[in-house]
Amino acid sequence: MVVLDGKKTSNDIKEELKLKVDKLKADGKKVPHLAAVLVGGNGASITYVNAKVKACEYVGFDSSLIELPATVSEEELLSEIEKLNMNDDIDGYIVQLPLPKHINELKITQAISPTKDVDGFHPESLGKMMLDLPGFLPATPYGIVQLLERYHVETSGKHCVVVGRSHIVGSPMSILMARNHKYGNCTVTLTHSRTQNLADITRSADILIVALGKTEFITGDMVKEGVTVIDVGITRVKDETKKSGFRLLGDVNFEEVSKKAAFITPVPGGVGPMTIASLLMNTFKAIEMK
Ligand code: NDP
Repeated sequence: MVVLDGKKTSNDIKEELKLKVDKLKADGKKVPHLAAVLVGGNGASITYVNAKVKACEYVGFDSSLIELPATVSEEELLSEIEKLNMNDDIDGYIVQLPLPKHINELKITQAISPTKDVDGFHPESLGKMMLDLPGFLPATPYGIVQLLERYHVETSGKHCVVVGRSHIVGSPMSILMARNHKYGNCTVTLTHSRTQNLADITRSADILIVALGKTEFITGDMVKEGVTVIDVGITRVKDETKKSGFRLLGDVNFEEVSKKAAFITPVPGGVGPMTIASLLMNTFKAIEMK
């Protein structure tokens, strides 16, 4: 069994980007600038945004953090977004989700300029992905494809089962795995909460990608020997023995499933760091596409 080490792979990608940024600097060119908008922010959102800003600084990108109170109105947030769209110095930006209930996330996502949409959530980015045109791929699915590629996991002709059909993970993941690409060409089954006999389907997976947000949902009896398992889930569960007061759990029971898997991602240290690496890659792509 091989652990797909997202932390190491993400560090490799960061080193590659650092070299590219050094080259830009040496040539007297502008370095990429990523901005992050944080509205209110629960503990997890603050952690994620800080990790993204830190990663930018590490590779030599410029970064800006725009913090707004949880009480900000939808109009005020839209006006911040318009400012970011107009600001030529900012190459890409993200609005950290989830947003407070009174703000329509889809409206916000659609207001982001498609040329700066480095999270890859804008309908134009998703449409380009669908049509296999150059553009921003959604950060988490892009990171997963990178991980499979860098570990040379064979995907062509394999049965890929995706659990969860969210707009940011499961649905785009199913499209990427089915594309006619070196790291695609799977026969894909996309499952969700209405799927019947889920365990029969997951047991037939050569590649199982799990993104439903229910801790340790996939157990050893739900997979076959030799499967490749990608665990996207990240849930904070209380743990008084930890300094932080919590620990992170994935959607896969690692102990049971790793006994049968050929490749498996851990939580933490799997998909999470790859999402950040993809965001940086998309931001670099933003200046290349200008
Ligand atoms: P959503 O809550 O948006 O979607 C969950 C999906 O799981 C839905 O499609 C839902 O089906 C499906 N589902 C729920 N219960 C079942 C069930 N019993 N059987 C089959 N399918 C089920 O989740 P996200 O995609 O946003 O996130 C999923 C997890 O991934 C979370 O833990 C999140 O924190 C994590 N995450 C991690 C990231 C990373 O960088 N590592 C990035 C993004 C998310 P239905 O559509 O029918 O309701």
